[in-house]
Amino acid sequence: MLNGKTAIVTGGSRGIGEAVAYKLASLGANIAVLFVGDPSGAEAVCEKCRKEYGVEAKSYLCDVSDFAAVKGTVGEIKRDFGAAHVLVNNAGITRDGLLAMMKEEDFDRVLEVNLKGAFNMIRHCAGLFLRQREGAIVNISSVTGLTGNPGQANYAASKAGLVGLTKSIAKELAPKGVRCNAVAPGFIATDMTSGQTENPMLKLVPLGRMGRPEEVAEAVAYLATASYVTGEVLRVDGGLAM
Ligand code: NDP
Repeated sequence: MLNGKTAIVTGGSRGIGEAVAYKLASLGANIAVLFVGDPSGAEAVCEKCRKEYGVEAKSYLCDVSDFAAVKGTVGEIKRDFGAAHVLVNNAGITRDGLLAMMKEEDFDRVLEVNLKGAFNMIRHCAGLFLRQREGAIVNISSVTGLTGNPGQANYAASKAGLVGLTKSIAKELAPKGVRCNAVAPGFIATDMTSGQTENPMLKLVPLGRMGRPEEVAEAVAYLATASYVTGEVLRVDGGLAM
């Protein structure tokens, strides 16, 4: 389905991004993995993409919050792969805290990585997509961005911002053949939620369990290939935000 295409996955070195890399590779896409702190994890993901799925894969050290660094990395990807067709903005962080305790730098950093990082990637990939009149962007938001969550004002704001970004880009680029959608996961078992297996919110999940990264990756693959879907926000949350 994605044979010969190239997919860029930010934060593809572990967790949801890792599962997305494998899923898109299984559909035939060559994979560019962006990471910030763990070169061996990113390289291991690329190695598995090459060995198990027979696609090309390469990792790039790039802090998505850095506009100039993203520009350079997108240029490198274009040189290495010739083009890019799918962009998955998955890189994200949390710096949780109740409002009265939340430091200014914690608010700023979460917005810089989660929201501005996605903008930076879209901004620098758009030229490639527009020239070929083809591109699919999938932003990883969160149900927290839809419902809010105490102790996550910064994170919820960044993830709600991604919904607005997604819909604006979808409207702006649709006439040029470029689609933009979002996935809003609920509780997914990754490093990010490793301390939350006893979170009382889990009892509110109608399907009664945490999700798996592979279950989010399924939704990403759907939106990456659904040719008549744009501006959608697809919840993958076991029914939590219903
Ligand atoms: P993890 O903490 O497991 O992985 C985060 C990934 O993002 C890593 O690959 C990390 O790279 C990368 N990353 C972090 N900061 C940057 C940066 N500045 N530039 C580039 N890459 C960066 O997170 P998850 O897999 O759990 O989450 C993935 C996405 O899904 C996030 O956007 C998160 O907000 C969202 N999400 C997760 C949910 C969950 O329950 N897990 C629920 C809802 C949304 P490195 O390995 O190099 O550190």
